[in-house]
Amino acid sequence: MWQHAGVAANSDCIFCKILAEEIPSERVHSTDRTIAIRDINPQAPLHVLVIPHEHQPNAAASAVADATILAEMVSAAAAVAEAEGYADYNLVFNTGPEAGQTVFHTHLHLLAGKRLSSLPA
Ligand code: 5GP
Ligand code: ZN
Repeated sequence: MWQHAGVAANSDCIFCKILAEEIPSERVHSTDRTIAIRDINPQAPLHVLVIPHEHQPNAAASAVADATILAEMVSAAAAVAEAEGYADYNLVFNTGPEAGQTVFHTHLHLLAGKRLSSLPA
């Protein structure tokens, strides 16, 4: 199986390719098990994606695999928000295509600087 950083990965997955640095991204934060990158199509003045190294299709699957990763992702998002000067922000997990999920590797949207009129697509 294709791997990066010693965890399960999916060679068809754009976020696995970003994690492996096969596709460039602007990293703003990282931990042992996560990265945070600027969204390529920002929906707010601050729009960052927190992505776990381990490939799972959505947040619920990550919770089953190892629930502690979700706390690490929220803490990473909070650290990015604070570093970027935002005390108030939204955190969103889109789950399933009908809910707007387009990349099927778990990611947490961090959005700040704009009141959301709709959730990130
Ligand atoms: P979803 O719609 O699955 O909740 O969120 C996927 C997010 O990934 C979207 O906000 C989209 O703009 C972002 N995205 C898709 N491809 C790339 C990419 O290659 N680089 C970055 N930085 N963001 C991406
Ligand atoms: Zn992946």
